Amino acid sequence: MPAWESVIGLEIHAQLATSSKIFSGASTAYGSEPNTQACAVDLGFPGVLPVLNGEAVNMAIKFGVAIGAEIARQSVFARKNYFYPDLPKGYQISQFELPVVGKGSLEITLEEGVNKTIGITRAHLEEDAGKSLHEEFVDQTGIDLNRAGTPLLEIVSEPDLRSAREAVVYARKIHSLLRYLEICDGNMQEGSFRFDANVSVRPAGQKELSTRAELKNINSFRFLERAIKHEIERQIDLIEDGGTVVQETRLYDADKDETRSMRSKEEANDYRYFPDPDLLPVTVSEEDIEAIRASLPELPDEKRRRFIDTLALSEYNAELLTSNRDTANYFEQALKLAPGLTNQLANWVLGDLSGALKRSEAEIQDSPVTPEMLAGLLQRIADNTISGKIAKEVFEAMWQGEGSADAIIGTRGLNQITDSNAIESLIDEVIANNPDQVEQFRAGKEKVLGFFVGQIMKQSKGKANPTQVNQMLREKLK
Ligand code: ADP
Ligand code: MG
Repeated sequence: MPAWESVIGLEIHAQLATSSKIFSGASTAYGSEPNTQACAVDLGFPGVLPVLNGEAVNMAIKFGVAIGAEIARQSVFARKNYFYPDLPKGYQISQFELPVVGKGSLEITLEEGVNKTIGITRAHLEEDAGKSLHEEFVDQTGIDLNRAGTPLLEIVSEPDLRSAREAVVYARKIHSLLRYLEICDGNMQEGSFRFDANVSVRPAGQKELSTRAELKNINSFRFLERAIKHEIERQIDLIEDGGTVVQETRLYDADKDETRSMRSKEEANDYRYFPDPDLLPVTVSEEDIEAIRASLPELPDEKRRRFIDTLALSEYNAELLTSNRDTANYFEQALKLAPGLTNQLANWVLGDLSGALKRSEAEIQDSPVTPEMLAGLLQRIADNTISGKIAKEVFEAMWQGEGSADAIIGTRGLNQITDSNAIESLIDEVIANNPDQVEQFRAGKEKVLGFFVGQIMKQSKGKANPTQVNQMLREKLK
């Protein structure tokens, strides 16, 4: 039996964060009453004319510049013709032969030190369609055209991905980049970021691509991974049973965890693409591109490099801290207030803080423990006011809104015991109460030391300074 290699290419639809639609002045705000944000242009009334939203073009160029892509000096909008009830014009305005963003690439990190460059074929602008509502009505379908005309950037990758996991790493990186650039809110529940995955399998070593299936409308990273894994297995089973993969569009059903056929794959010429006569070609000058390039924020890769080179963070921590712009900002703000505590801070942000955020499903920018508060806590650990263990208790109290670290340490009396007389009497007490263990230690059983430390820390309610306890205890037991 041959070893199989899977081949994946992703088409990502990112909703651009403009306040109005791509060809009309209607609002793009999410969650309004159906059909209250669809004007005559979005409804496809006869005689209306689309007017291009320049901000959508700027955002597309921002993305293109960030991935080092060719930016087309002239790009063209085309009509993609098909019928669907949520597409009243009978065509979608998209870009076909001349997209605004051409070939570029993105580097992804698969594990510490293992990077891979993924080709990006193109990224083009298009309008979203409306939405059919099947669940709200009995034996009827509702049409909501609020979403019609919302600007999308469709980002098409080369078939360079080789596993479901690589696809997820790539998709996450695009997601993070769009948020860094502030051109897409990335909200997956609201459909601002969705993928189609193209999947094929071929015997290892074969050069040519095999026939692929396209998995439509996946809207979470978890489903993306599951859907692709599934589809790879289905194709391998099919071929090994003597069948052949047919080119088709399949839908991933998250409830049943399976993909099923929707329709046979359409070809580009089924859509009768042609340049939209209502829209002029879009021309972009060298100066426009340079102005956009100059306006770009520090990008995730640059930030990660800087974190490694100038802050001496590990590659792994730098990657995690920069994977999202808000996390990186939080970290840098706190570091300003707790200079020198770089690694401790990284561990707290990626450990306790991110755990607490996950449990309460909060975003880091809404964290009840602000960068100032976390920096304050770390300083109290660094200057030995509290131990690392007590710090966890203080963190929890800060999370619950009890105030700053200093305030909590004060009201709860959590100051670490560093007074050697106090520690000595704790040690004496524990030694006196456990003569058997003392015997064992003197007989050479080093492990018993841990037992003593545990007892002493318990007696002090975790407040004794552990380093001092260890030192003095050894002295005493000798
Ligand atoms: P279409 O216009 O039908 O969507 P494209 O040629 O534009 O097709 O390709 C769409 C996506 O499918 C791209 O991301 C591309 O990398 C990917 N793709 C193309 N051929 C294959 C294949 N044989 N296996 C996996 N992915 C593929
Ligand atoms: Mg496609």
